[in-house]
Amino acid sequence: MLEGIVTWAEIDLDAIAANVRSYIRHVGPKVEVIAVVKANAYGHGAVQVARAALAAGATRLAVHRAIEGVELRRAGITEPILILGYTPPSGADLAVEWRLTPSLITPEFAQAVSARAAASGITLNLHLKVDTGMSRYGLFPQEVIPFLNQIQSLPGIHVEGIFTHLATADWADSTFADQQVQRFQEVVTSARQAGHPLPLAHMANSAGTMKLRSAHFDAVRPGISMYGMDASDQWPPVFPLVPALTLKSRVSRVYDLPAGAGISYSRTYITPGPMRAALVPVGYGDGYHRILSNQGFVLIHGQRAPIRGRVCMDQFVVDISGIPGVTQDDEVVLVGRQGAETLRAEEVASWANTINYEVTTSLLPRVARAYL
Ligand code: PLP
Repeated sequence: MLEGIVTWAEIDLDAIAANVRSYIRHVGPKVEVIAVVKANAYGHGAVQVARAALAAGATRLAVHRAIEGVELRRAGITEPILILGYTPPSGADLAVEWRLTPSLITPEFAQAVSARAAASGITLNLHLKVDTGMSRYGLFPQEVIPFLNQIQSLPGIHVEGIFTHLATADWADSTFADQQVQRFQEVVTSARQAGHPLPLAHMANSAGTMKLRSAHFDAVRPGISMYGMDASDQWPPVFPLVPALTLKSRVSRVYDLPAGAGISYSRTYITPGPMRAALVPVGYGDGYHRILSNQGFVLIHGQRAPIRGRVCMDQFVVDISGIPGVTQDDEVVLVGRQGAETLRAEEVASWANTINYEVTTSLLPRVARAYL
């Protein structure tokens, strides 16, 4: 399957399943797990990850946009798919046609869905988004009950859920997250008391699920840790996680450079002495960040080889002077384990001045995906 492929990501679906099962054990049988597979499952492949997560016991999926939900439906996935982000009223048709569960913050969208759903003779579930502290997408808590009252007689729609998102769940200090939990609890309780059942309330991402039992409500929405990556850089995972992605390539050339050779565009690295070089056919055209120029490392023969010079669109150079016996076509690991060495997404992120999320989500379609 990988013949002729020079750069690929291996995705261990058993790791995804193991991480989902760990979340299920952690939250217990009364709380649903919604697998967050937006942005092509953080670069891992939405359809394959969704199937693995559902088979492992997740009951629902979440994406950011309707179009991502359509991709999953086209692949034959029938479980509920929540759209976390904005769908314009003109997207109501798509939501109804593909039986997606949109999030809701405006009466215009409720009316558009209501008209389409009633015309199709169905009732579509929607989840109301509340902003309890992100200052981003969602109604403010005081707007929730008037809004629910306003739309409650519309035919063809059922506000099945209410949800919010934590701003600081990854912090060691939970003061602000606790305040968000309290605000959300108040809004859910008062809406239910006002006659809006809202059977599915949810707020916790990976970090919130791990650290804040009070944030579990009726469902949790883990993303990053389902892929085996750390949810926080301030505290270790509360249960073990198995990283699912390994980014691999093959050495495309091995050669010797004399002292004083300038490497790659703009000659940002000049060899201080003779250097044995290996060319790695990966670049920002694959989603491997250019900021890793002269910063990052790759693994070859289980050892770290430093990047020298600019990361180009398609390739970069590493110094293999300390690694004997490297030949063309040898395996290169850019994220993941090789032999006894590991480059975790968290470490690569630190060289690139970003977060683990961006390291895998950046991987572009040109990087082949191989599912184990
Ligand atoms: N819920 C919402 C609304 C999100 O935007 C995200 C991701 O950004 C998640 C859940 C999953 O978060 P995490 O990947 O930190 O678990």
